[in-house]
This record gives sequence, C-alpha cells and structure tokens, in this order.
Amino acid sequence: MPIPFLDLKAVNLEQGADLEAAFKRVLHSGSYILGAEVDAFEKNFARYCETDHCVGVANGLDAIFLILKAYGIGQGHEVIVPSNTYIATWLAASHCGAVPVPVEPVEATYNLDPARIEAAITPRTKAIIAVHLYGQVADMDTINEIAKRHGLKVIEDAAQAHGARYKGRRTGSLGDAAAFSFYPGKNLGALGDGGAVITRDEALAEAIRMYRNYGSRVKYHNEVLGFNSRLDELQAALLNVKLAELDRMNAQRARIAARYTERLASVEDVTIPVVSSWADPVWHLYAIRHPERAALAARLAAAGIGTVIHYPIPPHRQPAYGGMQVGEGAYPIAEAIHREVLSLPIGPTMTLAQADQVVDAIRG
Ligand SMILES: *Cc1c(COP(=O)(O)O)cnc(C)c1O
Repeated sequence: MPIPFLDLKAVNLEQGADLEAAFKRVLHSGSYILGAEVDAFEKNFARYCETDHCVGVANGLDAIFLILKAYGIGQGHEVIVPSNTYIATWLAASHCGAVPVPVEPVEATYNLDPARIEAAITPRTKAIIAVHLYGQVADMDTINEIAKRHGLKVIEDAAQAHGARYKGRRTGSLGDAAAFSFYPGKNLGALGDGGAVITRDEALAEAIRMYRNYGSRVKYHNEVLGFNSRLDELQAALLNVKLAELDRMNAQRARIAARYTERLASVEDVTIPVVSSWADPVWHLYAIRHPERAALAARLAAAGIGTVIHYPIPPHRQPAYGGMQVGEGAYPIAEAIHREVLSLPIGPTMTLAQADQVVDAIRG
C-alpha cells in the first residue's frame, strides 16, 4: 500500500460526523460572518494556548501582517526574520512596507540563532519574528531578552506549532503576539483557509479586531484604514470540532516521530531532527537531511512513499525578492539546509507499521 505524505481526507473523515453536524449547525443558524462559532473558537483557542486573547483572521499570512500593522510597523522600519522559513514570514513584513532582515538559523535545529540577532539590529529595527519551524520551538527566552534590551516587539510565527511547548509554556504565549495558520495541512487545519492572532496584549487584540473588519468597531464607523480578513464562521465551527482532538492528533505525530528517530539514528547519510532541551515539539514535519536528496526521494517515490521538500528555495533566492540583490552564498546555512532537507510522511492517521515501511525503504 502506498503511503501518502499526508492523507488529509482520512484525517478529516475521522471526525466526519462531527464536522457534518457543525456544518448543519452553521447552515441553520443563518449567521455566517463573525457569529457564535467564531466567538466560541476564539475563547477555546485562547484557552488552549494558555493566553488571554484570540482574534480569528483569514489566514496565517494576514495574522502576521495584521500584528505588524497594528503595532504601527511600516515604511522605514526593519523586521528581523529567519533566513530559513516559509516565505509568508517575509511577505508579512514586506506588505506593510517594512524591510525583512534575514538572520541565519542554528544549523542543527533549523530555528533562529539568537547569537546572530544583535548584529542585524539597526536603529530602524522594530520587531523580531521567530518561527517555530517544523513544529520545533525557537529559543524564546534568549530572543525575548535581546528584544527587551533593544525595545523590540517579539512575534511568534506559530503556523507550524499548534500546541508545542517551550519550557512547559505553550507556543502563542511566548512573545508579544503570535500568528497561527489553519491551512488544511497544519496540525490544526480547517477545511479551507483560516488564521488567528494570539496575545496577552488587550490593546493589540482590540486593534486587530478593527483591522480585520474594515477598521470598524461599530458597523459603518471606520476608525482606521482596515482590511477584510475575518475568520470564516463555517471554518470556525469546523475548527471547534478539530481543536477538541488536537492533543490526540499531536500525540500520534509524536509516536511516528519517535519511531523514525529510533530507527533512523544510525543510518548512514541520514541526519535526523535535533530536539532542543527546552522543546516539546508537535512534529508538523519530520524533516531529515540527506546529501543525495533527489536520489533518496526518487527511491521512496518508486516504493509508493510520498515526500515533500520544505523548502526547495530560500526566500532570498526567490525571484520575488530579486530586488534585494542578495547573491548565492549570502545565507549559507539556509542554503545548505534547503539543498538537503526532505520531509517524510507524518500525520495523525499514520501508523507505526507505515513508519517502519518508510524506514525500511530508506535503509534500502
Ligand atoms: C503556513 C505558514 C504560514 C502562512 O499561513 P497561511 O494560512 O497559508 O497564510 C506562515 N508561516 C509559516 C511558517 C507557515 O508554515
């Protein structure tokens, strides 16, 4: 039997009856925008993240963008971002008029290297966006300390880390504000697009409530130049169903990851993920490194095993950022990672027997 990279249909059909009931509830409510389901989800997800406020928005990119916007970050400002991340982190800064300033990761953990941050800070720097890549967790205490010394905001891009913990504390509660995505393939995924901002900062939450809804607190009274970036009522209803099972789904991902780690640790040429001492990761991805990545991926594909590269080209080498004029070799750690990473199948409906099949195929 082939093993898909992620069987989203199976994941959602596990809760099929409850998801259908949620759809019916919304259909019959007659309320389709910012209704009771969004309210309930915001309360549920804030509690899940052990934080005070959740504001549902249209997607993860908007969540980061609206945080920057609400903090007044824009033209003439710089935002520190990882050189090794999904491009959304950079785009959020660019779209508010600020300049994303890349900082390299720790090569072993793929996450932002705090030791390199201070060299990138200028008088124009306003914020640091830390990404919890692959469901691992960045070194938030050290990042917060640096930010405090320089008067910067700390934003978590937690799009890949729903439920992960840092020294026992949940992602979303570790900086000034956090952005989540509910893109279907994320650990907590909707059946369409969705996102959220999580924060303890009541003023920020209030500002984002305005920005997401045409800049108005009171209908047809527009206080700021707002956007339309609301979390959909139907997606919120589906997310309420899925949130109830998130810890169980993350636990199954952890079992698969543990099996991979145990059985791949001694395989030549395979570099397995390193878990930092502070992290309780949620394994959004299980990315290995291999010097002959293309050949390995082809061999696995021939065995019916799906893999994905996260990501093939770093943001600074994308045509979209051609204007930055950074040549190859400018961010060598990110480039080396991008050349060699390969994500193995992992997901809440995957079995240990399937993980063994993947390992056997890698061992050849
Ligand atoms: C998925 C993702 C985003 C963007 O989320 P969307 O909902 O697709 O806009 C941002 N950052 C990271 C790290 C992601 O993985």
